[in-house]
Amino acid sequence: MQARAIVQVAQRQLELQKFDIPEINDEEGLLRIEHSGVCGSDWSQYKQGTFSGVIPGHEPIGIIEEIGSVAAKRWNVQKGDRVAVETMLPCGFCLPCIKGKYNHCRAAGAHKINAYGYHNIEIKPSLWGGHAEFMYLDPHTLVHKVDKSLPAEIAVMFNPLGAGVRWASRIPQTQIGDTVVILGCGQRGLTGIIGAKESGAKKIIVTGLSVDAHKLEIAKAFGADHVIDVEKENVVKAVRNYTDGEMADVVVEVTSGATQPVIDSIDLAARGGRIVLAGAKYNKIPEFDSNKVMMKELTVIGALAVDYQSYEAAIRIIESKKYPLELMHTHSYSLDQADLALRVLGNEVEGEHGIHVSITPH
Ligand SMILES: [Zn+2]
Ligand SMILES: [Zn+2]
Repeated sequence: MQARAIVQVAQRQLELQKFDIPEINDEEGLLRIEHSGVCGSDWSQYKQGTFSGVIPGHEPIGIIEEIGSVAAKRWNVQKGDRVAVETMLPCGFCLPCIKGKYNHCRAAGAHKINAYGYHNIEIKPSLWGGHAEFMYLDPHTLVHKVDKSLPAEIAVMFNPLGAGVRWASRIPQTQIGDTVVILGCGQRGLTGIIGAKESGAKKIIVTGLSVDAHKLEIAKAFGADHVIDVEKENVVKAVRNYTDGEMADVVVEVTSGATQPVIDSIDLAARGGRIVLAGAKYNKIPEFDSNKVMMKELTVIGALAVDYQSYEAAIRIIESKKYPLELMHTHSYSLDQADLALRVLGNEVEGEHGIHVSITPH
């Protein structure tokens, strides 16, 4: 039997290829992909051609098609279960892994890999990515069982919601009654609202650009109390106004590339406030004023990726159906439309406003 999969062969070049489905040993599994979330990093990889010869996709949800006896015991799942698969393939032996910080794993598994979606197809059994009909499950895989009755395009948002939980709740230890400002309203900004809300935040304020008007509407539906269009209003002034001068206990920065929000975050935080920096930047920020960090006794924390507990929390939140997550899932595409899926996520297709986009092969 063979599986169809998308392969990034060069910059902006995807190809639908076929691969043999491997025999599974005791410690391995095979996932029948239901939906595979398209990540902002898939888009950068497509645009820049950073990796070639890989099957992209590291945010998959699917059904266990085959599973070895040892894997079934370790992962506590059976054939036919629906699982969300984590991006990372941690080795379990290096110091960061032993310390529980497996998103910093150094060694990277039996084949020197540490994540799905980035591993060359030359390395057998080739099916290392989610944008495919089937994905091979390496013994180092981390899986989470998910309620099968949920629509797959909703359940697949476990990945961005995991980030929202970790970055806006667990890392800044958001407390009941806190004021939280979220800078940016992409997938991670929107899911951050849910993370903050679940922690008991009293007031949530979210920023965006004028083109993000539709995302700011979703922000309100997810529980944001105020939204700010940064092209029309001064963010610091607006937050001062909305908080009666108290400013924010927690600031979460998730904009992509923009450096002004990092500078603003220092002014937006109340004395003793916590700032989470989770948006990738491509330039250094000389205007960053460390004196203000010292004088206000701010805690500035970097955040990279998601951890097991945050994924678990995210899945329980999805299963609770408390939030209208369907508003955020804007597009589903088939495998042969993968190119379109990526360009919609990258805002290159006129008239389409992609927020969460996924690929579904079956
Ligand atoms: Zn991702
Ligand atoms: Zn490791």
